[in-house]
Order: sequence, then structure tokens, then C-alpha cells
Amino acid sequence: MKEQLEGLLQAALKDVDATTSEEALQELRIKYLGKKGALTSIMKGLGSLSVEERPLIGQLANTIKDRLEARIDDALTHAREIKKRERLERERLDVTLPGRRLPRGTRHPITLVIDEVSEIFAGLGFQVAEGPEVELDFYNFEALNFPKDHPARDMQDTFFVDDSVLLRTHTSPVQVRTMLKHTPPVRIISPGTVYRCDSDATHSPMFHQIEGFMVDKGVTFGDLKGILTTFVTQYFGTDIGVRLRPSFFPFTEPSAEVDIACVMCRGKGCRVCKQSGWLEVLGAGMIDPEVYRHVGYDPEAVSGFAFGMGIERIAMLKYGIGDMRLLFDNDLRFLSQFRGECG
Ligand SMILES: [Zn+2]
Repeated sequence: MKEQLEGLLQAALKDVDATTSEEALQELRIKYLGKKGALTSIMKGLGSLSVEERPLIGQLANTIKDRLEARIDDALTHAREIKKRERLERERLDVTLPGRRLPRGTRHPITLVIDEVSEIFAGLGFQVAEGPEVELDFYNFEALNFPKDHPARDMQDTFFVDDSVLLRTHTSPVQVRTMLKHTPPVRIISPGTVYRCDSDATHSPMFHQIEGFMVDKGVTFGDLKGILTTFVTQYFGTDIGVRLRPSFFPFTEPSAEVDIACVMCRGKGCRVCKQSGWLEVLGAGMIDPEVYRHVGYDPEAVSGFAFGMGIERIAMLKYGIGDMRLLFDNDLRFLSQFRGECG
């Protein structure tokens, strides 16, 4: 039996040494030391031994059991360490790897124009004001001196909600609302969305305007020309030609259109400027005294001017966009080309 036990120890130690996996080691423990294991089955023969031999063999069996247990435990610890090291090796972070860049959006050309125009006027002392897009007839037409039978009030041109409520057709109501709240001096620009019943290649039922006005004591047409020329040259370039042409708007008198030399042909004449060499960019004029009466300003004491421009048109001229619908298609291939100064 002694030889049997020693043979078992040698065989078991050989097995343990040849095994690296945790699971296989647990199986070896059961195979040799388990209730139905090899050691137990040898020890079943203990009864056939002499009384003198029994304690000696029993002791040997215990020693073998202890050695084998210890060896299996060592091997298990070792196997677990190797496994842990492999996992750490696999999960190791390389802190020197460059970070993954997050895809960055771009600002819409309409937003770019609004921001850049607002910034230039801020430099000229203008503050930004906003107003509601669903507007009362009073602010959109009546206070701005549009007669009851003015064509702009026609159902064909304006989206009416009911008789007195409509979607604003221009940003000028902000002018009225501001004047009702603040006394001169005021210098305001108001960018925003406006609506008209109009839809074709160059018109959209929803578009954007920037309106601006300045009222103070002694504001003259010279101030209008100075401010607007400063804006146009800052925005389109100092070498651009500028001219004012007489025009008509219900809420300004006298009124003018501001043209710049064609940005495509630099004044030589092309398809974009219809061979005239000039492009209209702004409507402007001295605010009609009739408007002051509606908002409680004294037309004898103050004077001022107002101006407005279509943002889509400015964007098309600034960036050379041929079709206005591109601005509303939300095509990322188009939009991602506009980054602006701060990305
Ligand atoms: Zn041209």
C-alpha cells in the first residue's frame, strides 16, 4: 500500500505540474482527493493491514494529502495570477494614443450672416432686439403707415391667422414695439424669420430679414448713408462700390435702395446683376413722421432712419450661392462648407 500511495503522489504531482488552467486543477483535486477519488479508494484497503501497519499508512496518507493539497493550491494561485496578468495586458491603456476627434457641426450660412452683420452693427452702437413672429396687424402694418388698401395687406401676400393676427411679413414690427417701450436715443437691429405667400426659385414662404433703425435728435440722411456705407464696406470689402437710389417704402420718407457693385463681375455686367453692374442689398430711408405719431415720439424733436435687408440674399451674394433653395435643403454636403470664423 505504501508503494501504491507513493505512486499516486508521483502521478498526481506530475499531473498538477503539467496543468495550467484553473478548471483543470480543480478537476485534478477531485480526481485524487475527492470523496470518490484515488486516495480514498486506496485507503479502503486499510482494513486488510496489520494493527502495526495501519497508523503508519494512515500517517503517510495524510502527509500525501497535505502535500498534494498544498501543491494544487500553489498551482491555482499561479494560474489565477497568470490569468489576471493576461487580462491586464489585454486591457492596457495607451495614454499616448491620439484622441478620437468628435465630428463637429457647422453653422448654417443664414446664422453666419446674422452673426456677422449683428457684430458689425454692434460695433456701431446698435443693440439686438427680437419680436414675435405671430404679430398683430397694428405692429406689422398700421403703425408702419401701410394704408388699408396697400397691396402688401392682400391675402395673396400675407398669411393671416384672423382679421387682426398674421405671420409677420417683415421684421419692422420690432421697430414699433421697441419705440413704444424706449425713448430716444435708440439704435436697434432686429434679425428674424418672416413669412409671405411666395414660393419659387428665388422666393421662399419663410425667409429672414435684418431690420435696423436709429432715432435721436438731429439724425440726418447723411448719418444713414454713413452708417450703411460703413456696414457694406466692412461686410463685403472696402473696395466695393456703393450707391444709393431713390425708392419708396410706406414707413420711410425719403427712401432709398442701397446697391453694391456686383460681387460676381465687379461692376462689369453679368447674368447675376442683369448686366447692370449693381446689386441691391438694402432698403432704407428716413422714418416717416407718421410712424412717430403711432409710438408717441415727437416728430419735431427727433429724427431717424430705418433699413432692412434679406438675409438669404446677402448670404447668396457673400458666398456665391446660385439657388436660394440650397439654403433650406439641409444637405450636409452643402452646409459643411460653411465654417465661419469660430468653426
Ligand atoms: Zn455682375
